[in-house]
Amino acid sequence: MYPLDLSFPELCGITIALDALELRILTYQCTLASDATVWGIGLHTGARVRLRLTPAPANTGIVFRRIDLEGFIIEARAKNVARVSYATSLMKKGVLISTTEHLLSALAAAGVDNGFIDIDNLEVPILDGSALPFYRLIQWAGIKQQRARRTYVQVLRPVEVVEGNRRVSVFPAKRLRITYGIAFSHPLIGEQSMEFVPQDGGYEAEIAPARTFGFLQEAEMLRSSGLIRGGSLENAVVLTREGMMNPEGLRFPDEFCRHKILDLVGDLALLGHPLIGHVVAERAGHAMHYALVSRLLRERSAWTLVDGDDAERQPPAGRPRQLAAAVARR
Ligand SMILES: [Zn+2]
Repeated sequence: MYPLDLSFPELCGITIALDALELRILTYQCTLASDATVWGIGLHTGARVRLRLTPAPANTGIVFRRIDLEGFIIEARAKNVARVSYATSLMKKGVLISTTEHLLSALAAAGVDNGFIDIDNLEVPILDGSALPFYRLIQWAGIKQQRARRTYVQVLRPVEVVEGNRRVSVFPAKRLRITYGIAFSHPLIGEQSMEFVPQDGGYEAEIAPARTFGFLQEAEMLRSSGLIRGGSLENAVVLTREGMMNPEGLRFPDEFCRHKILDLVGDLALLGHPLIGHVVAERAGHAMHYALVSRLLRERSAWTLVDGDDAERQPPAGRPRQLAAAVARR
């Protein structure tokens, strides 16, 4: 359905089947079972980059290592977020890792708590613009359970970020649940909304393949700002005023909304723990996702850390508000 020019060897050595994991409530932390490497170009820099996933000890988290800078480490945590306009970038002591969200989304969805990401340039490769190649790479590496217990951020009371007509909130819930609504006055988008409960499965088939998208009329402006130098029809859906440039068409009619969910899963990983709560996003994007993560971390009374067994026992503390049925056009 979506051709991928990837030549990963056959799956081998998987300790735990990935489809049995997808963001479920797990008792123990997981890491990768082996190394896995992929080459690609950065969407914004256009630079060729090699990225290698490597197992890491329990309680390491997801840690980038700039191997072109003597292995300088940057933890994939909210405290290191630098820029959140067209991508989520991390920076520590002036060293940058850009466009992290699709890789972080695939790692979170696959249940990887701990891993080193070795990279020889400043931007994670864009590959086909979705998270599917990263998910396949993780499948190839395999997943290994560790001895340390996994802890979750369980939401106790609602937290919300509002900016004009954009809004992102999180409510207490028993599992991670995402409701996303977008509205663009474009014939291929219009109003789209989707609910995704990772625990029910479906990340690989329903969310991971959704590609990043952009508007042709914005492309020149972005290029002149030094962005999307590596952008092409191979790694993004490019929209014209009336339609799209990609000859292969869309992977889903609502690919745009699905990609927003993909991005959100990746940005939520910056919490440093898997989230248990219902996230409701309306016309949001990386900046709003990051604002929610930051506010949650600041409002320490709005959540508690629980382990997987506790999370299973605790009833939801409240009912989330439903996403407004109609999202007004921009
Ligand atoms: Zn994205």
